Amino acid sequence: MKHYKMYINGEWIEAHSQKRLEVLNPATGEILGTVPKGGAEEAKAAIHAAHEAFPVWSAMTAGSRSAYLRKAYDLMMEHQDEIAKIMTLEQGKPFAEAKGEVAYAASFMEWYAEEAKRIYGEMIPASKENKRIMVLRQPVGVTAAITPWNFPAAMVTRKLAPALAAGCTVILKPASQTPLTAVKIFELLERAGLPKGVVNLVTGSAGEVGNTLMEDSRVRKITFTGSTEVGKVLIKQSADTVKRVSMELGGHAPFIVFDDADIDQAVEGALGSKLRNCGQVCIASNRFYVQEGIQEIFVEKLKRRLQHYKIGNGMEEGVLIGPMIDRKGFEKVESHIRDAVEKGAKIAVGGQGCHRADHEDAGYFFEPTILTDVKENMAVMSEETFGPLIPIVTFKTEEEVLRAANDTPYGLAAYLFTQSLSRAFRVSERLEYGIIGVNDGVPSTAQAPFGGFKESGIGREGGHYGIDAFLETKFISIGL
Ligand code: ADP
Repeated sequence: MKHYKMYINGEWIEAHSQKRLEVLNPATGEILGTVPKGGAEEAKAAIHAAHEAFPVWSAMTAGSRSAYLRKAYDLMMEHQDEIAKIMTLEQGKPFAEAKGEVAYAASFMEWYAEEAKRIYGEMIPASKENKRIMVLRQPVGVTAAITPWNFPAAMVTRKLAPALAAGCTVILKPASQTPLTAVKIFELLERAGLPKGVVNLVTGSAGEVGNTLMEDSRVRKITFTGSTEVGKVLIKQSADTVKRVSMELGGHAPFIVFDDADIDQAVEGALGSKLRNCGQVCIASNRFYVQEGIQEIFVEKLKRRLQHYKIGNGMEEGVLIGPMIDRKGFEKVESHIRDAVEKGAKIAVGGQGCHRADHEDAGYFFEPTILTDVKENMAVMSEETFGPLIPIVTFKTEEEVLRAANDTPYGLAAYLFTQSLSRAFRVSERLEYGIIGVNDGVPSTAQAPFGGFKESGIGREGGHYGIDAFLETKFISIGL
């Protein structure tokens, strides 16, 4: 078992308290290693380092910053297997999926290495002959990034890459369940030669580190991915120092299959959208609306595909579904099934979970489960499940399904399957969601804007949109 360190001001350090947090393998309960349990003191040291590094990093040419990011991309791809293995061990997702995530995570480094060079200002025609109006785009300043456990690499780079490209310096607090992937990424950032203080990694107490970052006026920006509950706390905390906020919060994605859909395509879309990472994805479909008339065939085909889904330790060959992250996650799926069955739903496939480790917080597996006869009053229809549960509701009309789909405080992702072009446009435009998959169950990609409407978040990550979150706009009025 290895004892890892935090990375502050270009040095690998222990927590002042000497306390440590254990990192578990969610498949087996094995302790993989420990990280320092950082708190207020370490958060302050990281803020200080990032604040000191900011003038140098932000004054560098875009080309120089770009070269560091490009190097980080190359190193991540060179170490793709190694990072993926760490990720599977601490997070549980199957190794092939973890490799896919590393490539996706690295693609943000590549994209923003290029985008760094395109932070353009503007000259605006003035209303007086002897005036000129210039607009500059400048980095917002020291940025705090707080990331979740479900995508231990991609959520880190999706924040770090645009922040660094813009000229911001960063303090990252990764999820305590999955800090080792972040440690590895930071080792590579160090090897890429980033100047000291530009990126800082603080592992440890979420509350204490979070509060310290939020209270400090030197931190000008908070970018967070996680639960809506914690996101709301951070938005409130940001008020005192009026920090810029970017929030990627929870979702409750509807997955709509119209009777003119290509059913096989819809089935594949459902599997991609729901079973990736064992359903522990914020854009995972949570509610499946299938138009009456095709429900039977859709469920039948889905059932057939699920027979081939091997569940187990993500390091085993052929496994497609790994463990749930912890007992709490497992119990949520169980409780959604119990509640639905009590209210009249039927289990068409699955329904069972199991516990295969000695550890009380690891070794929880859940088989993909299809529920039919689902009604809107069941908990699964309004709460985020974060597990491999597919509740199916039938609907009659487009109008009816749109109303149901939009009837939620969330607005992250929605999916629709249809072969009708006009329906695809009509429904996409009326869905109150930030991301729409039309005949596509896996829409995320580095060049597109990712983010939610309503209580699913604020701002967008990815693409040229993603850099805006780290830039301030400065207007310079010039008299001649
Ligand atoms: P999840 O359900 O994905 O674990 P959370 O919102 O609980 O979502 O956690 C996401 C991230 O936010 C993690 O890094 C976690 O440690 C951190 N976090 C949790 N509570 C707080 C808090 N009060 N302040 C700051 N960060 C927090």
